[in-house]
Amino acid sequence: MQTIDNFNFAGKKAIVRVDFNVPLDENGKITDDTRIRGALPTLKKILADGGSVIIMSHMGKPKGKVNAKFSLSQIVDAVSEKLGVAVKFAPDCAKAADAAAALQPGEALLLENLRFYPEEEGKPVGIDKEDPAYEEAKKAMKASQKEFAKTLAGYADCYVNDAFGTAHRKHASTAVIADYFDADHKMLGYLMEKEVTAVDNILSNIKRPFTAIMGGSKVSTKIGIIENLMDKVDNLILCGGMTYTFAKAMGGEVGQSICENDKLDLALSIMEQAKAKGVNLVLATDCVAGDDFKNDCNTMICPSGEIPAGFEGLDAGPESRKAFAAAIEPAKTILWNGPAGVFEMDNFTAGSRAIAEAIAKATANGAFSLIGGGDSVACINKFGMADQVSYISTGGGALLEAIEGKVLPGIAAIKGE
Ligand code: AMP
Repeated sequence: MQTIDNFNFAGKKAIVRVDFNVPLDENGKITDDTRIRGALPTLKKILADGGSVIIMSHMGKPKGKVNAKFSLSQIVDAVSEKLGVAVKFAPDCAKAADAAAALQPGEALLLENLRFYPEEEGKPVGIDKEDPAYEEAKKAMKASQKEFAKTLAGYADCYVNDAFGTAHRKHASTAVIADYFDADHKMLGYLMEKEVTAVDNILSNIKRPFTAIMGGSKVSTKIGIIENLMDKVDNLILCGGMTYTFAKAMGGEVGQSICENDKLDLALSIMEQAKAKGVNLVLATDCVAGDDFKNDCNTMICPSGEIPAGFEGLDAGPESRKAFAAAIEPAKTILWNGPAGVFEMDNFTAGSRAIAEAIAKATANGAFSLIGGGDSVACINKFGMADQVSYISTGGGALLEAIEGKVLPGIAAIKGE
């Protein structure tokens, strides 16, 4: 596989898929530029080699239509400032051939939002899935998606994908475009390489013991990952809202807690699988329960299966926090996805904080720790501990699919799988 380090971009034009889907305030000002900063090493390497870059991205969900609210023109100045060159702008991503051809070494061109064209996502618009004509429309859209990808590919000599956040999508710019470059002229960017290595560290290159912490609201959304991890981990901490589905499955009373009554059998089967596979399953045995879903509600500490009516479990209790720390601190590989409580409310952060602190301690002792999934990243940032873990993934859905063991189309398209 070609790599960005081995490729000399001198005199070449590179089309680079980045994830510049940054949050904007009502005045179009960027409120968090993490994603732009994430792509800079790749863009700078190409320019430093003496190449030129055509940068492409999506922003928001314009659903195949031009919408000024999602125009990437709003971020040209910010990208120019961070990249250190005056970035040019192509107001129509599918009609940028001349602007691309005019680029000189060291110059950069940003294309307008790819999702202003329905071909980017490749889904037929304005037709219902139930409509008998849908299949035909889908076929036609796939054909025009190829044409769209070919147009983009025509702007450049080589293709770099550095958008991990969309790697789980088979879109024109994330996967289909790769068909128009040979193996020597397509590669992953630095951010993608880092993400792939991080996932590899927890899926294949595991140092033991391996502790995974799965939290969040529901067991149903995490089941694929939990089952895939069951074959790999030594300790599996299941916490957050799913605690109460387990507590109820074991015959407990969970009051008003979030609980998936149709997943009680699933919870029992996870417990059996863990036993059969020798995985140390750590559940939150006690909780901080509240009499309302509010930060300043009345609280009590009780076993997770003995929550009185009118109360709901909102955070892990002190006994659970100790058990979490005991399973995390000696670990050499750690994966954390999903908070242990309703961390958005300050009075229910203790469980997540205990996890973050134990991860920081283990990391200081040489463990590899990967934090991924929007909410656990928000948690680590809230606690100001982002620099105390090994790696924070930029991909939400993409990371979860990778951990489930799925092949990501964006990566497969480059590797030629
Ligand atoms: P997810 O998107 O499934 O990872 O869930 C994240 C959300 O789970 C966060 O917004 C948390 O507030 C929420 N959460 C964590 N613990 C609980 C709980 N005990 N009850 C209700 N929501 C919870």
